[in-house]
Amino acid sequence: MVTTMLDAVPDVKEWLSPWVQTGAEPGIAPDGLEHLRALLNTDNRFAGLDTLKTTAPSALRTLRDALRAFIVEGNPAPLDALAAGHRLSVRVGASGPVLAADDETAALLAMVFDEYRAGRLQRLKACANPDCQWVYFDGSRNRSGRWCSMNECGDVMKARSYRRRARGEDA
Ligand SMILES: [Zn+2]
Repeated sequence: MVTTMLDAVPDVKEWLSPWVQTGAEPGIAPDGLEHLRALLNTDNRFAGLDTLKTTAPSALRTLRDALRAFIVEGNPAPLDALAAGHRLSVRVGASGPVLAADDETAALLAMVFDEYRAGRLQRLKACANPDCQWVYFDGSRNRSGRWCSMNECGDVMKARSYRRRARGEDA
């Protein structure tokens, strides 16, 4: 596993902290990945609320939506277009080489890179319940989770397909 060392400045967690709420159940992610998950969940489709809509810088919303397109929809184009305009470079200091970012967006993209290489970004998923779409960390062994929480959305979705089957429709 390749792990990069991120430069402390600019600090992504500090940058995001006024706009995101980390630690919201269900599906909390480990470490830095939780900050990316919290950013994605500012587009809270379960509550029908976009908490970045009125107050946050529009660049942050653009970044979030590009990140969502990549992680949730598997569409890399918007994030790739953003990445082209934000520079990362290697700097070698007394404590070894670090990846340094020119701005916060670049620092966040470095985090995306790190989490992807570690195989953890792929564990962020949006709940398969279309009324929910909450982004959660799938900690299951074979990454087979589909719902944010089996007790809530899983049951809702199972009951729906059961009712469809009972009516003689395809599940
Ligand atoms: Zn859900």
